[in-house]
Amino acid sequence: MAIREIIILPDKQLRLVSKPIQKVTAEIRQLADDMFETMYDAPGIGLAAIQVAQPLRLITMDLAKKSEEGGEATPQPRVFINPEIISSSEETSVYEEGCLSIPEYYEEVERPAKVRVRFTDLDGKVHEEDAEGLYATCIQHEIDHLNGVLFVDYLSKLKRDRVLKKFTKAAKRAEE
Ligand code: ZN
Repeated sequence: MAIREIIILPDKQLRLVSKPIQKVTAEIRQLADDMFETMYDAPGIGLAAIQVAQPLRLITMDLAKKSEEGGEATPQPRVFINPEIISSSEETSVYEEGCLSIPEYYEEVERPAKVRVRFTDLDGKVHEEDAEGLYATCIQHEIDHLNGVLFVDYLSKLKRDRVLKKFTKAAKRAEE
């Protein structure tokens, strides 16, 4: 396993539409392993392959919570290949979202509270699941990445322009 570099705003690759995975090869398994290591190291709860510059429809996620005693949580790694939302509730919920590609920026986003998701696992098996709560928010956020959509796209133009400007300036400073 290896930690890969996470690309950040305003990297244009974040706007790419990722390609479906035809077959779960050794390379795809390696990519998923690396994405977990990268995600846990960040740390984050979800990662889309494009965030490590691979335009493929692959997501890693781990929503395990730390125990109440503050001990380490048991890892619950999950892989979603070619995931799609097949239905969404009318009811919405609001979560404060963040993104490893937009570090240290958090804003509330309103999304459908429940979704039904279809995806393939690493064994090539297709699943359908109902998601709600944090799972629903996270899977929608990550599937958006596969379509070149970022959570800041749901904010007002004013807020979006402000965050884009901040990250563009930071990228320029890093080049100097
Ligand atoms: Zn994200």
